[in-house]
Amino acid sequence: MSLKFTAGDLTIHRIIEQETTFLPAHEMLPGLTPEVLAGNRAWMKAARALDDSDTLILAFQSYVVKTPHHTILIDSCIGNHKPRPLRPAWNMKTDDTYLRGLSAAGVAVDDIDYVMCTHLHVDHVGWNTRLENGRWVPTFPKARYVFDRTEFDYWTETNAKTEVPPFVDSVLPVVEANKAEIVRNDFVIGDHVRILPTPGHTPGHVAFSFGRGKDDAVFSGDLMHSPIQTHFPELSAKFDVDQAVAAKTRRSFLERYCDTDTLCCTAHFPSPSAGKIRRKGNGFVCEMA
Ligand SMILES: [Zn+2]
Repeated sequence: MSLKFTAGDLTIHRIIEQETTFLPAHEMLPGLTPEVLAGNRAWMKAARALDDSDTLILAFQSYVVKTPHHTILIDSCIGNHKPRPLRPAWNMKTDDTYLRGLSAAGVAVDDIDYVMCTHLHVDHVGWNTRLENGRWVPTFPKARYVFDRTEFDYWTETNAKTEVPPFVDSVLPVVEANKAEIVRNDFVIGDHVRILPTPGHTPGHVAFSFGRGKDDAVFSGDLMHSPIQTHFPELSAKFDVDQAVAAKTRRSFLERYCDTDTLCCTAHFPSPSAGKIRRKGNGFVCEMA
């Protein structure tokens, strides 16, 4: 299984926390008809994106990107000791899979200069913090944590109405520790890191593009969850806050990177999770690296 890629002057490591069955395909993708599923079942199963009972298989992972100047963590997965009663596999976890994955990649928590979250959902912020003496503290003590302003404001407002546990235990403690950079879309790090607004899954969802002068790699977060959405970009996920905007964003993202050399690193596609976007009929395919 590929856990390491190079693109331009970047070295990219995948840090997998879980790769497992998630939800039935028809539930996760409400627009998926039985006919379309039937026509795509074979390649989806061969790609280990679908199991024998038509349940989607997803990876839950971070990427560590080493640029010539910085070591950057993209998304921070599920985390440990977090009460997530609705998802048993994520609830009060104590395993060391994630931290072992980091050290296997030769990365210590002290090495991370930036943590960048594509959005603030539960499976993208978990390792932002860890439990220490009953308090949530930043897991990566030397890192600045980059959150998009639109996204941060959306969750601040949502949390004010009804508490959002991952925001409270995995985002706000970072802000309170003065480690957060709440940024707009013009945010860059040197000549290597840029933000690409990709709303729909959440209002302030962003992708991050990396590379000097051109996009050698792009981290697409949750603008798509399963490779079948590259073939049918109109298929939005049930978790997409605005399904129509998500579909539009998905197609324009795929169009932007189609037939380029940019390595597209997805959050949830099954291993190897990253590849290059190519045109296929009226849709696209992610040709895995
Ligand atoms: Zn996700």
